[in-house]
Amino acid sequence: MPSYNSLSRPMATLQQMFFLRQATAGLDYQLGLQGTLKNRTVTTEVRTGNNQVKAVECKATLAALSGSQKTQKTALIVYAHQSPGSFNAAVRDVAMQELKTQGYKVLVSDLYAMNFRANAMQHDIIGDVKNPELFQYGEETMHAWMEGRLSDDIVAEQRKVEEAELIIFQFPLYWFSVPAIMKGWMDRVLTQGFAFSLEKMYNNGIFKDKKAMLSFTTGATQTMFQPDGLNGDINISLWPLQNGTLHFCGFQVLAPQIFWSPAHCPAAVRTAMLDGWRARLKGLLAEKPLTFAPCELFDLSFQGGFTLWPKVREEQESQLYGITTGHHLGKPLPPDNQIKAQPTDESSAKPDCRN
Ligand SMILES: Cc1cc2nc3c(=O)[nH]c(=O)nc-3n(C[C@H](O)[C@H](O)[C@H](O)COP(=O)(O)OP(=O)(O)OC[C@H]3O[C@@H](n4cnc5c(N)ncnc54)[C@H](O)[C@@H]3O)c2cc1C
Repeated sequence: MPSYNSLSRPMATLQQMFFLRQATAGLDYQLGLQGTLKNRTVTTEVRTGNNQVKAVECKATLAALSGSQKTQKTALIVYAHQSPGSFNAAVRDVAMQELKTQGYKVLVSDLYAMNFRANAMQHDIIGDVKNPELFQYGEETMHAWMEGRLSDDIVAEQRKVEEAELIIFQFPLYWFSVPAIMKGWMDRVLTQGFAFSLEKMYNNGIFKDKKAMLSFTTGATQTMFQPDGLNGDINISLWPLQNGTLHFCGFQVLAPQIFWSPAHCPAAVRTAMLDGWRARLKGLLAEKPLTFAPCELFDLSFQGGFTLWPKVREEQESQLYGITTGHHLGKPLPPDNQIKAQPTDESSAKPDCRN
């Protein structure tokens, strides 16, 4: 895939560096920006795949400083609870305090306090849409991202994501998933082009150098979410969020922090849970991420159906467990695949299936 590291017309006044990566054929490209440029609209020229010079108006979505300039680590907590007195608020506060103690700059997106809009709609695009007859949110927001025409609330969140090395999603479990307001954050902020592309997904994804994790409370007890419990295996509930959203965008997904049923346990247990969270945060960044199936195991073509290569399927036949919770191949699920990192035991690990 060709890539370009040139700026056709340097802009001395802004002193930023552009890099352009051709994502797909023709005029379909991704424009990235590095530097101190804030939310300003600029016009520059870029070369497309046909080597044609094209003028592009671009509103920068990056506030991040370039790697060499940035010294302080940044964490983002995307937080969804209505009440400042909730256990979720206490969990968030522990993370803020501990990460700040470790020298992090901590950004918090308090979604209810921000009145963050959850629904993905045409309002998210500034100006005209490409196809008003048949509005397609994914296509339109990808173009709007490329042209710097996403709404300000989305751009503000994308800047935070750009800046953060670590993102913690803090929420109460709602219907085996995130609250709608947080789902809306994922729908709207993780725009195509910004968070993923057809070539950049899963272990090759755009955010592969960042870490993300779910931290959540439940109403149910831990036993209710066991494979033999009333609600069924928590690993299955977590698969769509952890694989389908976070890892799809490339994030290395750290094991979730689960606070089981804080409303139904003694105060001392709640205090112990907060202490345990504080202790875990001290070594969080050194933790091994969860295991997912890398793209290389699959024939990524329509002809091949994006399924496992025959050789990989053959190799897997002798394995006791499936590859991951989702790629179980009709076998028992690998135990705790979505809640614990796989041990680093070379003899027992499946080397082909790591991040
Ligand atoms: C729409 C909806 C869907 C839901 N779906 C599910 C589901 O699918 N599965 C499921 O399991 N549950 C579900 N629930 C339940 C929900 O997940 C729990 O109610 C929630 O996780 C509890 O967390 P909380 O922060 O709101 O607890 P809170 O009720 O705010 O807090 C619990 C206790 O902790 C105390 N506390 C607060 N701060 C501290 C502190 N600093 N130290 C010690 N104690 C403190 C509080 O006073 C309170 O006594 C659902 C709830 C709703 C509304």
